[in-house]
Amino acid sequence: MRYLTFSILLLLGAFTTITSCKDDDCTEITWYEDADNDGLGNPDVTLSSCEQPSGYVADDTDTNDDGVVATGGTPVSAFDEFNPDAVTVSFDGDDITIVSNALPNHTSPYWSEDNSLYIDAVVANIDQMSPGKIGEGSYTVTVPASPEKASSSSATGLGAIGISVTGVPIFNDEEGPNISLSENVASGFDYAGGHMGPTGYHYHLESADVEANTTLSFDDEKLVGILSDGFLLYGRKCNATDDYPTDLDESGGHTHTTQHGDDAFYHYHIINEFYVGSYIILFGGDLQGTPNGIM
Ligand SMILES: [Zn+2]
Ligand SMILES: [Zn+2]
Repeated sequence: MRYLTFSILLLLGAFTTITSCKDDDCTEITWYEDADNDGLGNPDVTLSSCEQPSGYVADDTDTNDDGVVATGGTPVSAFDEFNPDAVTVSFDGDDITIVSNALPNHTSPYWSEDNSLYIDAVVANIDQMSPGKIGEGSYTVTVPASPEKASSSSATGLGAIGISVTGVPIFNDEEGPNISLSENVASGFDYAGGHMGPTGYHYHLESADVEANTTLSFDDEKLVGILSDGFLLYGRKCNATDDYPTDLDESGGHTHTTQHGDDAFYHYHIINEFYVGSYIILFGGDLQGTPNGIM
């Protein structure tokens, strides 16, 4: 029995030696360090090996691998960007509650004519403007202070899917159940990318580049708002590269730093492509986090 055990050990030893010989023969490839854990590697920091080393990836396209590790936490400074006349933000332990009266701090032909923010339409096709005037509303959502991506994504529905920095609710790319926004309907939107609906004034689109537009994101990195899963939505460009991000998932999200601090966290961008005609949708994808009800 003792002899048998010894033989097995000898056999195992021989096998291991053969295996390691085989390892030495493997084709080494170059791996690139991914210090900020965004899946993209730093072309300047490399290792060669057969197996993928921990902290290294095969990609070599990270021009900003600054060693920042995703914290998942939403930077509190982002909430300074919200219109204080419309939006109240309260922090309670692990939760953030955002309450809005939905009254935007910008001009629009959807205000009633006696309001100081009323302007004649500069973008909207008057014949396609929806009926109704901007009025006070009430939107409340509580999201985690450190939202996480869910195991599966969630489709958005009709109604508010987020709250913008102006206080106006963000809607998705539908005008009715399974009715996508048409070019005709979009032509009635104001320069802010909004119009009236049965529940009030809301945004669907990125704003337009007109003189009257002094606050809203257009082809830039500005904060647009927060979606119901707690992830922030930024404009088409990312502060980290000052350009259109090239590493977005199908919802327009990625993990990177922003103008709101040195910590990387998951956030969405407006996807830099026309949705219909020359209109760019604010958010037409699925939520990558867990949706919370907007009441
Ligand atoms: Zn609408
Ligand atoms: Zn970004």
